[in-house]
Amino acid sequence: MKVSAGSKLDMLFRDVEVEARAVDVAVHDGIIHSIEPAGSGTTASEVIGGNGGALIPGLYDHHIHLAALAAANQSLLFDRSFAVNVRKVAEAESASEWIRCVGYHESILGELDRGKLDALVPTRPIRVQHRSGAMWVVNSAGLALLGLSSESGQLFGADSQIRALVPTVPIDLISTARRLADFGVTCVTDLTPSSALEDLEFLAAAATRPDFALCLAVTGSTEVAQASVAGVERGPVKVVVDDYSLPAFDELCESFRLAREARRTVAVHCVTRVGLLLALAVWQELGSQPGDRVEHGAIIPIEAIPQLRELGITVVTQPSFVFERGDQYTSDVDPSEQGDLWRCGSLRAAGIPVGGSTDAPFGDPDPWKAVASATDRTTATGRVLGPDERIDTAAALDMFLTSAGDPGGKVRRVAVGARAELCLLHTPLAEALRDPHSDAVRATMCRSQLFLRDR
Ligand SMILES: [Zn+2]
Repeated sequence: MKVSAGSKLDMLFRDVEVEARAVDVAVHDGIIHSIEPAGSGTTASEVIGGNGGALIPGLYDHHIHLAALAAANQSLLFDRSFAVNVRKVAEAESASEWIRCVGYHESILGELDRGKLDALVPTRPIRVQHRSGAMWVVNSAGLALLGLSSESGQLFGADSQIRALVPTVPIDLISTARRLADFGVTCVTDLTPSSALEDLEFLAAAATRPDFALCLAVTGSTEVAQASVAGVERGPVKVVVDDYSLPAFDELCESFRLAREARRTVAVHCVTRVGLLLALAVWQELGSQPGDRVEHGAIIPIEAIPQLRELGITVVTQPSFVFERGDQYTSDVDPSEQGDLWRCGSLRAAGIPVGGSTDAPFGDPDPWKAVASATDRTTATGRVLGPDERIDTAAALDMFLTSAGDPGGKVRRVAVGARAELCLLHTPLAEALRDPHSDAVRATMCRSQLFLRDR
């Protein structure tokens, strides 16, 4: 991009490390305008001294749920102190208001049902979301308000039903995006299988505001495959192979066809062996397209690897689950399948493109934790899950530096002419990678704005 004589460049990163060189990087109109040796004398309207800290491409979280993350930030978290915390909330706030809690899992305090919730919160409506996102547990007061009856209070796939009946709390996507920017993230793909166009338009409305800190791609399910959403990139069509009730082969074929008709790729949620094999059978039948992806790939049997490679399928993984859920897998997952959990190194070695993501709020939104987890494969209690699946930190970070349409593909670079989606670190990259941590992030630049990290 040419800058007319006399007018100033927008922004200069002075004395930063780019690919092991000390340089000055100038940005104009959202594009990297020049990269000169440090001390070049380039000036700009705004200058930030890098002190030798690395300037890398902004991180890309390839699988996230923005609205749910915002809601989780505004909800009670289900943990070992749930009983104490929920009583406090129930007493403290208005008695008629719903209590929303997220992150429930059987491994934390055993199975939760309506009776147990009633004992803790007898009169106020409460709903507790399973951390898979697939189930809500509701107490009797809540069920009465919803006009639903359920002996256990466990409602599967009832998201839209609940949303239609529960008064909505305003969802703050602006602060949510800002929090992600503090992790060095500049771009995300929202993988929520929304079937309502309003959901995508809601995200787009926030994403086109000038104070929104990210570039966003949205997906949605087959129902909204054809719809265009102004102001945001359109990712693949999200197809869910339900963990609880598998779709029929024909039904899944139809979902793929609807995506193809809309000239879009598919992103298929697969967390079980049988779910993955079913999706592969559909790909085998209908053919794959470059950009088709498996989301999660929590269990990938070794015999499926050649097929994934031949079909050219990308796997978008969440390395943090090794740390967050690894201990629970040892009791929940059949020992014969434990070697197939959250593969990463073996997929890459087989030539399968692997993209990085957090699945927040179902996983921790900090991608640096995912980088650390992909590197050490250590669980919360310090066990190692699948040591052969480890990759080095640079490779782990690279999984978060690819682009929207190619999560496991070419790593973006800080190069002249590239979009200025940037992450500035306090230290050189090699130092930051020795102990990956989001504290290394000093600022991000996205959509022509600089977002300094609050520390
Ligand atoms: Zn997800």
